[in-house]
Amino acid sequence: MRHIQRRIALLALPALVGSILVATGPAGADPTGPSAATSRSQPEDRESVRLVQVRLTGADMLDKVAAAGFDLEHGLRRVPTGIEGEAVVTAEQVTELTAMGVEVLADDAGFAWSDQADGGIGVDAAGARAVQPSNHQATVRIARADWFTTKGQGFLYVEARTTEGQQADPIVGMQVENDSGKGTPFGFARTMSRFVDSGQYMFHRNLFKLDTRPTRIQVTSSTGGVTTGVVSNWLENAPPPLTANPSYKSDFVDGYKHPQQLYSRAKEIARQYPDIAEIVYLPNQTNGYQRKAQAQLGGTGQAAVVVTSAAWGHEGGNDITVEFVDRPDANLPLAVEVTGKAVRVLLATDAAGAPASTATQVADALRTRSAGLIDRAHPYRTNEGSGIVAPTAGPVALTDFLDQKRVGAPEGEVPRGPATIPVLRIGKHRDGKKPGVLIQAQDHAREWVPATTSLESAERLVHNYRSDRETKKIVENTDIFFILSNNPDGANYSFYNFASQRKNMTNHCPDASADPAQRNSWGVDLNRNYRVGSGHDGYAGGSTNCVSGTYQGPEELSEPESKNIIWLVEKYSNIKFMMSVHSNGGQLFWQPGAYIADGRITTPRPPLGDEAFYWQSAARILSQVKAHRETVVTPENVGGSSDVLYSSAGNVREDLYYTYGIYAFGWEVGGSVYNPATGDWQGGSFQPEWTGNPELVSGHAETMEYANGIMEMFRVAADWGKDKKDPTSRLIPGDGKYRGPVDVRFETSEPATIYYTTDGSRPTLESPRYAATEFREPGQVFHVTETTTFRWFSIDSAGNIEKNYDPTKKDKRNNYRTATITIAKK
Ligand SMILES: [Zn+2]
Repeated sequence: MRHIQRRIALLALPALVGSILVATGPAGADPTGPSAATSRSQPEDRESVRLVQVRLTGADMLDKVAAAGFDLEHGLRRVPTGIEGEAVVTAEQVTELTAMGVEVLADDAGFAWSDQADGGIGVDAAGARAVQPSNHQATVRIARADWFTTKGQGFLYVEARTTEGQQADPIVGMQVENDSGKGTPFGFARTMSRFVDSGQYMFHRNLFKLDTRPTRIQVTSSTGGVTTGVVSNWLENAPPPLTANPSYKSDFVDGYKHPQQLYSRAKEIARQYPDIAEIVYLPNQTNGYQRKAQAQLGGTGQAAVVVTSAAWGHEGGNDITVEFVDRPDANLPLAVEVTGKAVRVLLATDAAGAPASTATQVADALRTRSAGLIDRAHPYRTNEGSGIVAPTAGPVALTDFLDQKRVGAPEGEVPRGPATIPVLRIGKHRDGKKPGVLIQAQDHAREWVPATTSLESAERLVHNYRSDRETKKIVENTDIFFILSNNPDGANYSFYNFASQRKNMTNHCPDASADPAQRNSWGVDLNRNYRVGSGHDGYAGGSTNCVSGTYQGPEELSEPESKNIIWLVEKYSNIKFMMSVHSNGGQLFWQPGAYIADGRITTPRPPLGDEAFYWQSAARILSQVKAHRETVVTPENVGGSSDVLYSSAGNVREDLYYTYGIYAFGWEVGGSVYNPATGDWQGGSFQPEWTGNPELVSGHAETMEYANGIMEMFRVAADWGKDKKDPTSRLIPGDGKYRGPVDVRFETSEPATIYYTTDGSRPTLESPRYAATEFREPGQVFHVTETTTFRWFSIDSAGNIEKNYDPTKKDKRNNYRTATITIAKK
């Protein structure tokens, strides 16, 4: 068999189009600032945040809200009327959100997919069919019709398109009916929900509760289009999980782990199992769990001065004191005295002997005359600093605010300063010849379950290697790299200071956002910091505002954590699979994951073979998740992330797939679980109670079920590495004489991409690729009206080419496939 290096024909990415949102002041910021700190700087208590349910009209609003500095990420889901999710906000920010048009929902007032049959709006069944359907047969297509069960309840998920879906006046409605088993009539008409994103019609879709599995559905449009389709199973009848083996060992992780615990266990595993495990250290240290020491002095608004130490807090910054001193005499000049770590600003006085130094003057003096102790001093936020500063009651101690331990945080000293991230590498043959799998957890600091899920998977590998046949096969046929936490600085901050921290701790903010009250909003979103489809190239979903939850950083790969990932996949080029593990949306993603909002131009769609391989792998992975306690990740939450959720510019998956040809998944573990007691889906959270309700929301249960899925991903990789079998394909119908026009399509024996010609030339990798009619749909249908010869070959996800054909050079055998559709002349 011929094996070819998998290459992605990546079209040139569109250049910058549209506008990047201009950074605005942080939302909810008090323009006058907190009241004067006279004895000790006391920034407003940013811990007083809460989670609220919000609904946005769409991706445009999401971008604007994120650009304004709001923290709206994860657990977001599409609903017919827009996007819903949770926001981590202060009471003040709730008002701001409302002013921006965001609907703040009461607790548990989220949208529920309709499960009631109704007559439908705009689609009067009888009236619709009065329109001649034959003209409209092709105007409605079914993309998905999936049946699944969870906890005793059946569901039907339908996704369908009308070619008139973009039409706005009037909007074309869609209605779905289903049968109740083979041979039964269609009925139970339900209105479908129209899904529009960034101004573009996507499709209609709905999830319905049903008690009986239908075999067929019929979808009708309000303009008379009608089509029928067969219902498929989603995650039904999965093979037993690895845990079904009675001697299989699992359930190793006993609670949430902070980065020091994760890394020390990784190193211990490498010591305990030296034949199959080792540590690889990533070369770039993080910027550190550390902050400069700060204080805000002299008054509010125009009179406030924000002071930042030159040294890190733990390296001397916390020892600095600053005092603004009033003197009795008149007409004195501004002066600065430094004694050890004590800085005294002797305020100027006017003719009456009153203080006369402005905030700007004091800030300038501190920067230039504090003997190097203070290297950043400026007026508060956007103020010019024209106010006269007030004297302090005494020396004010600067602080890095890292000594305030959260209630309930684990014991133990948190190491300050940069961290070196260890990668736990597990595999019997770590020689670069086995397919590598990168598991990257906790890019986002507050996502604690991804770290425990990844650790649990590593434990299962080493503990079952000698006793479980399937685990042995995994360890002998793959080369696995675990990054148990890719954001240790932020994770420590999440454990010890501010639970909702998402980003890393690098402060790229200008003076206007650098006062300590903003400290919980600094940092770079590591999953917006990559190079393909990035915000720097005009893609949507990354923010230029340094206090936004999705701040993309000052440039691509500005952060050590993202540089490390690129280093790893370049050094270990056998890495062919990647899972970026997040929480808590209950989603499984791949490409495309970003688009340019104007025109909704996505990164290039993966070839049909890759798309099919992603779907096949996703079904395997999610079936194993379901095997634990029947959690179903629904098909509406699986696919290209920008198709089913939103655009995330500069995410790691786009870079690894398009630059290196790595199958790069994004996983949102946790998420909704069906609760049969209430009949509703119950959402998850970033840090669910570890034990919690084991049937619903529980960190432990999520860890165990999603570790099942990660183990299956290893098996996907092992199978891929052993795949030496050529794909086969056929044209349907094939060679032959036909009396009139014929509709033809290709079919492959496994996920594979077809390259074909119809102009007599030999097919190559530059020939047209057989594509889907539209995204999330099967391969296109060709309407052949005159005699045509198709020449083609197929290539599978592992690079095997049908019939050992070599498309890269002329060979005499020319053993590509051919078929001639002969249309008889009348
Ligand atoms: Zn995340």
